Amino acid sequence: MDFDVARNLRGVLADLPEGVKLVAVSKYHPTEYIEAAYAAGQRVFGESHEQELSKKQAVLPKDIEWHFIGHLQTNKVKFIAPYITMIDAVDSPKLLREINKQAAKNNCVIDVLLELHIAEEETKYGLTLDDCRSLLASGEWRELHNVRICGLMMMASNVEDEKQIRAEFLAAATFFDEVKAQYFANDAAFKERSWGMSHDYRIAVDCHSTMVRVGTTIFGSRVY
Ligand SMILES: *Cc1c(COP(=O)(O)O)cnc(C)c1O
Repeated sequence: MDFDVARNLRGVLADLPEGVKLVAVSKYHPTEYIEAAYAAGQRVFGESHEQELSKKQAVLPKDIEWHFIGHLQTNKVKFIAPYITMIDAVDSPKLLREINKQAAKNNCVIDVLLELHIAEEETKYGLTLDDCRSLLASGEWRELHNVRICGLMMMASNVEDEKQIRAEFLAAATFFDEVKAQYFANDAAFKERSWGMSHDYRIAVDCHSTMVRVGTTIFGSRVY
């Protein structure tokens, strides 16, 4: 390690207001990097590939809270269901159903976030606001007793323009309020607004984020 994971981690934590959770994104980094952050007190880590995550999970401390933050194929859910803390990027009713099914098999309830597509890039996954409205309006999720919808997640466009990033985060925050009022007003578990990555987490916390996902700033650049 040619840089100081613990110091970088403390730097990010110092930027976060109380109540904002840090998911340390360790994808593509070796377990030694995770151990260094763990030794510094970090317990919540994010990964985006099932095989990589399952390998790491098998050898690392069992009190780590793993978040699956990437696009998840339905046929991979069964592998992570036994141990995953949260699936952050649910982007279809089909995936939600499969998570429910696998959680039921494991006798557990899996926390999830619904991923919104607000950014301009066409390559990004996620539900449009209208897709998300339909998913909730269908009411099917109410019958899925082994998943708990804990909030919304999104990524802003990968642009320099801070105004645009801010506008996208605020659109997500406004949508969160809409959905909270309409479907989750009496559900204290629905509280997470997960936005903000290395280059924009400071803007995100300004725009009501409760959970940032930061990789590069803590662990350095990824080698793909
Ligand atoms: C990789 C990734 C991150 C972290 O990105 P950094 O720019 O390294 O902080 C956050 N969220 C998601 C969904 C990711 O895939």
